[in-house]
Amino acid sequence: GTPSGYRILNETDLRDYLAGIAAVAAQLGGPADRWSITEVGDGNLNLVFIVKGTSGGLAVKQALPYVRLVGESWPLPLSRAHFEHLALTHQGRLAPGLVPAIIHHDPALALTAMELLEPHIIMRKGLVAGAIYPAFVDHITTFMARTLFFSSDLALSAAAKKEAIASFAGNHALCKITEDLIFTDPYRSAEQNRWTSPWLDATAADIRADLDLHVAVSRLKLQFLSRAEALIHGDLHTGSIMVTETETKVIDPEFAFYGPMGFDVGAVLANLLMAYFASVGHERSPGEREAFESWVLSTVDQVWSGFAGKFLELWRSESTGDAYPLSLFPGEAGAARLEAERQAYMARLFQDAVGFTAAKIIRRILGLAHNIDFELIADERRRASCEARALRLARTLMVETASFTTIEAVTRAARELR
Ligand code: ADP
Ligand code: MG
Ligand code: MG
Ligand code: MG
Repeated sequence: GTPSGYRILNETDLRDYLAGIAAVAAQLGGPADRWSITEVGDGNLNLVFIVKGTSGGLAVKQALPYVRLVGESWPLPLSRAHFEHLALTHQGRLAPGLVPAIIHHDPALALTAMELLEPHIIMRKGLVAGAIYPAFVDHITTFMARTLFFSSDLALSAAAKKEAIASFAGNHALCKITEDLIFTDPYRSAEQNRWTSPWLDATAADIRADLDLHVAVSRLKLQFLSRAEALIHGDLHTGSIMVTETETKVIDPEFAFYGPMGFDVGAVLANLLMAYFASVGHERSPGEREAFESWVLSTVDQVWSGFAGKFLELWRSESTGDAYPLSLFPGEAGAARLEAERQAYMARLFQDAVGFTAAKIIRRILGLAHNIDFELIADERRRASCEARALRLARTLMVETASFTTIEAVTRAARELR
């Protein structure tokens, strides 16, 4: 059952509730009956209200006791609002300015009021329209490098790390969604799977019979289950990023827990690669989106290289954790050996990211939750041909991960499929 004090708020309930909270009423300004309140949630899980007063606005997110996309038949714990609030608090401290500020949180109502992001739009919508975001790479690489590094054993004491893992361990129902919908269902017959039929019927059947792929995805799932490397966002796709030309804000960390870092990096890479493969499906004349497409692929290159560079720099300058004690690496020889080990660590992390990139692509084309990059290609045959190219890259990335040792090898393979 749901905790006492919880009720699903409609616009009228929300107005009365917000009017009773001084910090919120001050932020909005003017009499409560003049506030405009609109529910805008376009996500799969929760309610989101945009509230505007005479002096300012807010976004108010409330968790529902079930999956919004599916309905009451699929219950989901309200505690995800607690974990989202906890993650947002950590991210705001570790990556200042890159997440919305929190204005109010009510655990009983599973509700958070936060900074209204305006005129920001969901990045995925911009990418579908062919928009270029020149500041994105710098912002997202800072977000990932800082949130992942500072929550890892490279920065935390062993005791602090274990306490931190424990504080997110209760978010297992959200992890289970990922375990099922990303790492399992697309590879077997599952009622909720769908794909662009009939064009992808044969490809979907091949993937359900591809044991090399099933081994590869099972290894990735085991990593996701067992490797508590850092506090990951857990749902870092381009629908969880709001942008303007100059600003980037990461939202919606309700899937956060201590998991493998490569999962977040792979989420960003996968969603950019899907924007690339979908792009030809959105062009009105041949070659119309060439500049966009080359920007997307160079962004993929720079997301990895920028992230790796910033992460390594943090490791060299802020290594306060219990991993790799400096006393074991004395003198010049020790320093050189430790630097070589940092490079080896990044090479391993890159391999993880490549595998998770593939998993994130496959689930969006064969699983339950699809994305508008492909879905808005109205001509289904054309959509399927974009999706088939993305699937071909993903299958290769997942099964032949070791042959991709640089990000340029990944973008080259993508370009060759276009
Ligand atoms: P869900 O968990 O259901 O996916 P999200 O947190 O992704 O919910 O929010 C759903 C939508 O609400 C977003 O796609 C965005 O359009 C809008 N939204 C969320 N947070 C804000 C915000 N702080 N400012 C403006 N719009 C927001
Ligand atoms: Mg969302
Ligand atoms: Mg959304
Ligand atoms: Mg969400």
